[in-house]
Amino acid sequence: MKKNVTRRDFCNGVIIGTGINVLSPLNLFGQSDLLNHELDKSLYNYPPMLNGMRGSHQGSFEVAHALAWTGQKPTSYKDLNEEYDLVIVGAGISGLAAARFYQQKMGQDARILLLDNHDDFGGHAKRNEFEHDGKLLLGIGGSVNLENPRDYSKEAKGLLQDLGIDLDAMRDNESDGYESLTSTDGQSALSLPGPNGHVTVKANWMTLNQGEGDIETAIKALPIPVIEQDKLIEFFNGGRDYLDDLSLRESYRYVQSVSYGDFLSDRVGLDDETSSIFYAFMKLLWGVGGKNISVMDAFSIGAPGLQSMGKLTKLLQKILLWEMSGSESLYFPDGNASVPRLLVAKLIPAVTIDDADFTNISNSHFDYKMLDKSEHSIRLRLNSTVVGVRQTEDNRVEVDYVEEGMALRVMGKRAILACYNNMIPHLCPELPESQKNSLRYAEKMPLVWANIHLEDGIAFSELGVNRIDCPKDPFVVVTTAPYTSTGGYQPPKKSSDPMVIFMMSVPEVQATGKETLRELYKAGRHIVYSTSFATYEQQIRDQLQALLGPHGFNHETDIRAITVNRWPHGYAYEYSSLYDPEWEEGKAPHEIGRAQFGNISIANSDSEAHAYVNAAIDSAWRAVEEQTS
Ligand SMILES: Cc1cc2nc3c(=O)[nH]c(=O)nc-3n(C[C@H](O)[C@H](O)[C@H](O)COP(=O)(O)OP(=O)(O)OC[C@H]3O[C@@H](n4cnc5c(N)ncnc54)[C@H](O)[C@@H]3O)c2cc1C
Repeated sequence: MKKNVTRRDFCNGVIIGTGINVLSPLNLFGQSDLLNHELDKSLYNYPPMLNGMRGSHQGSFEVAHALAWTGQKPTSYKDLNEEYDLVIVGAGISGLAAARFYQQKMGQDARILLLDNHDDFGGHAKRNEFEHDGKLLLGIGGSVNLENPRDYSKEAKGLLQDLGIDLDAMRDNESDGYESLTSTDGQSALSLPGPNGHVTVKANWMTLNQGEGDIETAIKALPIPVIEQDKLIEFFNGGRDYLDDLSLRESYRYVQSVSYGDFLSDRVGLDDETSSIFYAFMKLLWGVGGKNISVMDAFSIGAPGLQSMGKLTKLLQKILLWEMSGSESLYFPDGNASVPRLLVAKLIPAVTIDDADFTNISNSHFDYKMLDKSEHSIRLRLNSTVVGVRQTEDNRVEVDYVEEGMALRVMGKRAILACYNNMIPHLCPELPESQKNSLRYAEKMPLVWANIHLEDGIAFSELGVNRIDCPKDPFVVVTTAPYTSTGGYQPPKKSSDPMVIFMMSVPEVQATGKETLRELYKAGRHIVYSTSFATYEQQIRDQLQALLGPHGFNHETDIRAITVNRWPHGYAYEYSSLYDPEWEEGKAPHEIGRAQFGNISIANSDSEAHAYVNAAIDSAWRAVEEQTS
């Protein structure tokens, strides 16, 4: 018997697989005459606690797809007679940061409305909560960590400061790790299916990849043919120059223009099955394996081979060392969800009962009923998909949206579109054609993150590592939820404590090799939308059983709950040296696409072509500056 697993959304994903015929426009927005604006929102009382399929959850995307795919939207709207100084589309980090910047510049009384299609705020920065006998357990629902905050712009650093985020405290709070995992000294594991179940090889793979450590023992333990092992050992040892027929200049061009997968097969002589054992982490960053990223990009995340490039090795090491100097990742226990939570607490203080700030943000409870109150100058309206944003003749902005089947309209003096940028041509068909084409260029990268609430961490701790790369499994990296006490959180301390396992997946597209990166992302997105929670659940159970079964784990009794966060529209598109031209400054699609259009400005990390928190903040700053200078 499976035990206590919450599966609120067993067949989520099936709807989109069968097309929007299932949810006809009548179901989506045909009820505006029937309902008034007073809804029973009890279902949405506290979204972070919901299990099953989250992220792009059922109910969040159907209206937008009807508009984007078939051009359908309501023909009439109920005017709410609400007028704001600023209407913001999208309550992710960018939209929320824009609200804060605008408020700081225009004063506390500025009236702002944020609209978001999800039942929770934060956009990609969401958290998953679990309750274990009265104790709160947290997991990362989307955005993972602050990446090199020292390098953030003045404005982005300023926002972190405004929110009271103490980076030094975050560094200190991470050092206090989980008992049996701290002793493993940088070890991770590579786990591959073998003839008798998974073979998990523990080693310091990061340093082995760079040619240091006991390479032979680790490689010989992998369940791959001996001939492939020997090739790998030679490759890892760095004694051979695999580009010896090329000049330094040609070699440099080679690493930028040839895929890592082609390098491994053409020059190192590995078969594709062997090469793919190095693709787990790159899939998380680029959504694709080595066949679709350049050698240089692969090296920049520590893939093996840098030591085997002859005369180029030293130069690349210098470049990468410079790029990575001072690099760090700082975690909240819920990933970057604490950033939007702190923002919301600043913007709408009544939402937190316990005066949430940096010191208690992890544990503080938010009252979602307070998000959208007429007595507050800032209102955040969830479950609301914007379908039209137009400038009026009297120089205001009319914003149409669909909330729970109702077609509604509000007015603003100006608007900031902090939503996915390639949705904007559908919202503002009046934009110039060249701008709309540029906005359509990017494809967001699809991803799926899962959090698994376990009875205890005994089996995981016996494995003795806190990160396992599983390149051949559906979830390519398995790790633990962050061990940090930031924000007053009490992470598990002992192996007998309940724990949350964090598993990361990207859709596996059957590619011909001729697709562009953008086509691969699009195909991946369809896979994510059409994969049911039941399928993910089975994958998770099978994979955890294979990894942890030898250490006493029983998925039927050890798993308490599963939350799958699917992000079909995940990371903002970042240009690739393999697939995109080198645009002249100011001519890249995201730069043309984000141009101000009267009293409408465009934000979101898409408008920076950079899939990071600071891009979301920087774009918000720019959009607010455009509208207020
Ligand atoms: C899985 C994942 C992991 C990541 N990890 C990291 C990390 O470790 N470090 C890092 O720095 N960055 C990370 N990022 C990137 C970073 O989180 C994002 O750049 C940032 O959160 C984006 O914020 P945003 O507000 O620009 O966009 P979003 O978070 O996408 O917010 C936009 C919001 O607008 C909504 N919206 C779209 N269309 C409409 C509409 N028509 N009407 C109403 N609302 C609409 C969207 O649904 C969404 O809620 C990650 C991203 C993902 C997806």
